[in-house]
Amino acid sequence: MITIDGSKGEGGGQILRTSLSLAMITGKPCTIEHIRAGRRKPGLMRQHLTAVNAAAQICEAQVTGAEVGSMELTFSPNAIRGGEYAFSVGTAGSVTLVFQTILPALMIAEQESSLILTGGTHNPMAPPFPFLEKVFLPIINQMGPQIEVQLKQYGFYPAGGGQFQCMIKPAKTLIPFSLLQRGMQRSRNAEILLSNLSEKIGKRERDVILHKLNWSEDQVRIQSVPSKGPGNTVSLLAEYEGITELFTGFGEMKKTAEMVAMDVVREYMEYIKNEYLVGPYLADQLILPMVLAGGGEFYTGRLTHHAKTQVELIQQFLGIDFSIETHEKGVVIRKGSGEWTVGNG
Ligand code: AMP
Repeated sequence: MITIDGSKGEGGGQILRTSLSLAMITGKPCTIEHIRAGRRKPGLMRQHLTAVNAAAQICEAQVTGAEVGSMELTFSPNAIRGGEYAFSVGTAGSVTLVFQTILPALMIAEQESSLILTGGTHNPMAPPFPFLEKVFLPIINQMGPQIEVQLKQYGFYPAGGGQFQCMIKPAKTLIPFSLLQRGMQRSRNAEILLSNLSEKIGKRERDVILHKLNWSEDQVRIQSVPSKGPGNTVSLLAEYEGITELFTGFGEMKKTAEMVAMDVVREYMEYIKNEYLVGPYLADQLILPMVLAGGGEFYTGRLTHHAKTQVELIQQFLGIDFSIETHEKGVVIRKGSGEWTVGNG
């Protein structure tokens, strides 16, 4: 039984989710203590509980401590079973994070899977659906699995009610990626989503983008979309040969449209002016797929707290190493020595 301290490093939901993914893949039981001890409301929230239950269902795990507010969980997995599943968070909690918890196991399972996932699809502090679709999954698909996602309903925080479908054709072996240099730039554009909000908000956000990035109007699309509650996102996309990056700002109460747009413009400019390929969010999300492939490398900015936590957790769980090479503007991270094997509980 491996014991993971959920208060270490970043101290949030990622430690729980990655531990579940690793337990599913290796078949090794684990205990996670002090779950989300670093957060204002510690313990399991609906989104985390949905991830635990989804993981448990897929590998017929025995679980203790699976309830809202719980700060300790034991998870004893059996073999992974791909198939037809539907998981619902029940609140506006992010369902893309639930998806990322179970994807590593399902993309190397024996059987294909088809999923229906319900909850928040466009949440702050989580990968919004377009990030999965345009940034994260194209890299996973280049590794061998074939994963298709389709958004059925937009779900913005706090009303939620979003839904997407996913088809997963697993791969027996994963092809390692090398993401070191940006290729030719293909496009730069922005998408502003508004749901149950005035179009004026979108126009004010567009004006900031046009002014600060010197873009033309045809690079910015404003779209009104249906959803259960109000919602607004501003996404800036940079598409290169070999990689697409996406930065998203989320409209919220007491934040002006100009501030929403300006914050995401800053994130985007920080990425554009540097040479590294993998932005800060994608970086922590690629560490586990890299390890699953048994090798791989990517160039990112300084490691975020999330990325460092991910490295330390995987090192502890699998007993493998990473090589981290520091450059002037960022780091190249590679899977280092050490082997691990897929288990079946
Ligand atoms: P945690 O804070 O532990 O729940 O983890 C949040 C996860 O969401 C991390 O993997 C982040 O990289 C990811 N994330 C947060 N914000 C964004 C964003 N704007 N775009 C893409 N991914 C994000």
